[in-house]
Amino acid sequence: MKKNTQNSDFQHIGNKLLDWYKENARDLPFRQTKDPYKIWICEIVFQQTRISQGLNHYNNFIRRFPDVQTLADAEEDEVILYWKGLGYYSRAINVHKASQQIMNDYNGVFPSQYEDILKLKGVGKYTAAAISSICFEGKIPAVDGNFYRVLSRVFADNFDISNSRAFNYFSALAEMIMPQNVGDFNQAMMDLGSEICKPKNPLCHECPLQEDCLAFSMNKTSEFPVKTKKIKTEDLHLKYYFVHRNGRFLIRQRKDDFIWKKLFEFPDSISEKLEPFSKGTKTISHKLTHKNLTIEVVDVEVTSEAVWNEFVTQNQYIITDLEASHEKSFPKPLENYIQNQK
Ligand code: SF4
Repeated sequence: MKKNTQNSDFQHIGNKLLDWYKENARDLPFRQTKDPYKIWICEIVFQQTRISQGLNHYNNFIRRFPDVQTLADAEEDEVILYWKGLGYYSRAINVHKASQQIMNDYNGVFPSQYEDILKLKGVGKYTAAAISSICFEGKIPAVDGNFYRVLSRVFADNFDISNSRAFNYFSALAEMIMPQNVGDFNQAMMDLGSEICKPKNPLCHECPLQEDCLAFSMNKTSEFPVKTKKIKTEDLHLKYYFVHRNGRFLIRQRKDDFIWKKLFEFPDSISEKLEPFSKGTKTISHKLTHKNLTIEVVDVEVTSEAVWNEFVTQNQYIITDLEASHEKSFPKPLENYIQNQK
């Protein structure tokens, strides 16, 4: 479809959406501000976390790190700790690095240009467009899955959303219906996509775009958006040893680029001397986006002080206890395992 941002025949659709948003915008704490720092953190937090699940975490994070400088000055481990419960910890590592980038490259002032925002670590086109439109009157649609779904339904457009050109295609389509107030438009699309035009069973009878929606008029809403390629899910098997003695246990921080980089975990191997102390194995299943994990945790209660000391010294593990463990960030399944030991 041809791009036409001026006086498009379809702009009334964007205006209807804005009218609906004025009446129906969700009352969310980050809607009361145009502070780019807070909007940025909220966009990153809610990328992979539902609003109801992430709201407390967002509020706690902002309370502890109220501005770029405070975040940049903090230790990385503390930033990760405040991300606890949200998962996908690389986001915490990235916001921390990006805050230092803002201090170093922009004198601590959040950049206002889309291209500069896009240079921040962990910020993609969607997030840069959202920040730029909400905080700096940028005119770029923040195209994400909500846009794909709503636009493909409204126009009964069967462009494949798994196609590598989908982002550009739907950005052009979004510009056709986009009103002047792009910040509100982007947020309205987010609300419509998550509250009304849901992936399954959209609430068309409550939708402000119903009159314009071709998929609705053809009774074919379930046929859009079109997605041909399914992303493969990988099966991963991990084994850990919960090595403990007198209420204390051993951990280490993951340094490689694995999914749990910078989080704490149990040893993944033990020496022959520890094998006689193995007491049993628990198997935990855990799902991540595109990964099915099966985690075996072997309980090893070391009753010999000498063997314990030798193992600790040789492997440079950190000794912690159940009470102190809440000061560290563990992957969710290991966190649950520790909680069950109490
Ligand atoms: S009418 Fe239904 S399918 Fe069409 S945009 Fe609205 S909620 Fe989505």
